[in-house]
This record gives sequence, C-alpha cells and structure tokens, in this order.
Amino acid sequence: MFRSISSQLQISYGFLVVLALFGVGIFGYLHRKSEMLRQVDEALQNRSKQISALLVRYDLDELKIPDRVGNRDSSPYLPGPPISSGDDPAQSQTILYRIWKAEAGEMKPVFQSELAPHWSGPVPHPRDLLTNGIFRTEQNQRQLLSRAVRNYVVLIGTDFSNRQAALNQFLIRMIFAEIVFLALFILIGAWLTQRALRPIGKISSTARTIADGALDQRIPIDGGSSELSELSLVLNESFDRLEDSILRQRKFTSDASHELRTPITAILAEGQSKPESIEEFRDSLERCVGTARSMGQLVDQLLELARFDSNDNELIREPTDLDLLVNRAVQMVLPLAEEKSIQIEHHLDVSQADVNPVRIQQVILNLLNNAISYTETGGKVVVRLIETETTIEITVEDNGIGIAQEKLPHIFERFFRADEARADHENEHYGLGLAISREIAVAHRGTLTVESELDKGSVFTLRLPREEF
Ligand code: ADP
Repeated sequence: MFRSISSQLQISYGFLVVLALFGVGIFGYLHRKSEMLRQVDEALQNRSKQISALLVRYDLDELKIPDRVGNRDSSPYLPGPPISSGDDPAQSQTILYRIWKAEAGEMKPVFQSELAPHWSGPVPHPRDLLTNGIFRTEQNQRQLLSRAVRNYVVLIGTDFSNRQAALNQFLIRMIFAEIVFLALFILIGAWLTQRALRPIGKISSTARTIADGALDQRIPIDGGSSELSELSLVLNESFDRLEDSILRQRKFTSDASHELRTPITAILAEGQSKPESIEEFRDSLERCVGTARSMGQLVDQLLELARFDSNDNELIREPTDLDLLVNRAVQMVLPLAEEKSIQIEHHLDVSQADVNPVRIQQVILNLLNNAISYTETGGKVVVRLIETETTIEITVEDNGIGIAQEKLPHIFERFFRADEARADHENEHYGLGLAISREIAVAHRGTLTVESELDKGSVFTLRLPREEF
C-alpha cells in the first residue's frame, strides 16, 4: 500500500510538514515563555533597585508600609501596597518582598510584606551574592534574591500563574492551529501529488494498450513542460520507432513469403505438367533447377538481411587497396556491359582502407550491375574513387532510366522496385540488393546515398569515413 510513489511522496511530505510545524510551534512557545520571564525578571529587578535605593537613604525602622488603601503621609514608604485591597492574593501579580539583614554572621529576617515570598533553603550572606542576584522559580512564583546596602538581602517575588495560564492558552491555540494547518497541508499535498503523478497513470495505461497490440496508440501530452511531459514525448518517439520497425518487419515477412510463393508455384506447375517427350521433360527439369537456384539466392539474401537485423554479421576488416578492389569489380561486370554496348569509365584515386573487402566489393558489384541493368543499350557508366580528408567516396554514375523523385526515398527499402514492369525475378531482381548494400555501408559506419533524375540517370555514392581506418 505504501510502496506507490504517491503514498511515499505524501508520507515524506506529511513528515516534513509535521516536523516544520512542530519546530515552529516549539520555537514560538519557548520564545514567548522567555519573553514573559524576561519581563517578570525586569519588574523584579526594578523593585529590588527601588528597595535598595530606599535602604541607602533610610534605616529600615524609618520606613513605613503603605496601608491597603494606599494612604500615605510625607514619611518615607516602602514600595507598595504589597497587596491592593480586594485582590485575591493568589491571582494578584503584586510584587511581594522580604528583607534579611546579616548580623554577627547570621541572616536575620527584618521585614516582610504581607503574603511575603517564601525562600526555601538558607539565605546567603550578601557578600556571597553576585551583583545580579539569584533568579529562581518556586511553583508559580518567580523570585529574585539580591543584596542591598548595609548588609541587607532582599527577596522579591511575584506570582506569574496568570501569565503562565495565558501562555498555556497560547500553546493550546497554537496546537489547534497547527492541527488545522497540518490537515490543510496534507490535503493540498495529496492533491498536488495526485496531479503531478497523473501523467504516469496515462503513460502506463498507454504502454499497456500498445503491449496489447494497439501499435498506433500514443501518450496524450497536455502541453506542459514538466519532466513527465518530456518523458512522454521521448516515449512517444520510441513508440513511433517501435511501430515503424514492427510494421517494416511485418511487411518484410509478407513480401518475402510473396516472393517465395512465385517460384514455388512455378516449380509445382512444372511438376504437375505432363511432358510428352524426353526433351520436354529435360526442359521442364532445367526450368525447375533454374527457379530453385534463383529461390536459393533469394533465401541467401534474406538470411543475410536477417543477420544484419540481429547484429550477427560482424565484419572482419583488413587493409584493402580500394582502387584495386573497384577495378576488379569493373572487370567482373565488363562482359555484361559489353553485351549491352555500355561503356564503363573509371577514375580511381589510390586509396587504402581497413574494410571488409568481400562486403565492399559486393556493394560495388551491386551498384555496377544496377547501373548496367537500368541503362539503355549504348549508355555510359562512370565509376569514381575519391579520397578526401575525412571520407572515401565511391560513386557509380549512369545515364540510364533514372528514378522518379517520389520513389527515391524508398529506393533502399527491402523488396522495393522502382519499376515493377522491369522486375525480373529470373535475374534475381528482388529489390533486396540496395537494402543489403546500405546495411553493409552502415556496418562500416558509412552511408549509401542516391541522386537521380528520371530519364537522365542516377548517381549512387558509397561514403566511408576515413577516421575509421
Ligand atoms: P534489384 O535487385 O531489383 O535491382 P535493388 O535493391 O538493387 O534491387 O534496387 C532496387 C530498385 O532500385 C530497382 O528495382 C530499380 O528500380 C531501382 N534502381 C536501382 N539502381 C538503379 C539505377 N542505377 N537506375 C535506375 N533505377 C535503379
């Protein structure tokens, strides 16, 4: 239950809020309490100074105590009255006091106000008291014991239960407010967390729908720029690529089955025909062998592509004289070119590179064969090998039938034939040659590109990076 991100976030959020509120509460309470004590202590000190000042000027016996009504004549009076008439002494914040005098090393009580404060323990000699005196709290009374002139020690006390009660009320109000705040924060936090994590729900439900087969489903993006929207965008792009590759795989399988069905039907038809003579029988058998051979080549090409798809086609590279390699390929297709009176020109820079010679020759042969196949009799094919600072470029240019612009983007797709009418299954024109050539180029970290114009000719360029060698 608490393993979901949202509940973990909410728990940590709640914990932090409780911690923050608790901290603020404690700080507030302690601050208020120390402020209250500071005020009480200040009042005690003032009263202590007042009594000390009187004792400097007068002898204690000369001092009078004001009566409860506060009537005074012109004689010196001790501060008071200690308790105002009608006050409940327990509730009163009146300052009470008691005075001792050190005589013959002993502390003798010499005066005490009505309801005088009680000092528990021995009263220290004035010389043992620090200038600031001793502050202490006795039940609800705050007391200050300080020294005065003529060996007097004065104890001032005041009841602060009223102030403590006010402080307690403040504490209760604060706890109540904190509970309300906590509930509010937790509710807002839960709402915010749910809102922030809502896209995750959408992401997982979309991923589930896609896994169930609905490849065209995508995560709805609400236009925000949060990290989750970014993640949704990246996932949608991955889903696009995934869909694309699955659809291509499906098409590839169906195209391959379709291509294989044609020769199988031909072989079956031959097998079911009833030749009337030995010659007819031999011809039929030869056609079967031819079709089977062509089928074998198709299967070889399919296997080759499958190996590229599964990255199972590791290239073994060796230092290769590319000019010699291209020249050899040209020599191999010369008879074919001569058959169609096609002239082959070549301009080859001397160039050496670490490549797989068999694979690179396969690409060049494929480009040359295509150039001859798709060029009318009497045409011309030009092969160039150009070495630049960063690349090695091999181009095969022809002035043949060219390729329509709308077909160019598909030319390297598997089983794509720009001109279906010319597709010649007998000569293994299955539309796989360029797809395989591009895989070989990519495996060498290179590229294979085409520029072409219908009825004018085509230029195929195999570009290999030099730093790879
Ligand atoms: P194929 O074995 O059918 O030639 P490729 O993959 O080598 O298969 O070529 C795919 C298609 O590209 C060909 O069917 C053809 O329509 C077109 N093509 C390839 N090379 C050329 C070229 N030099 N001139 C015109 N069209 C070409």
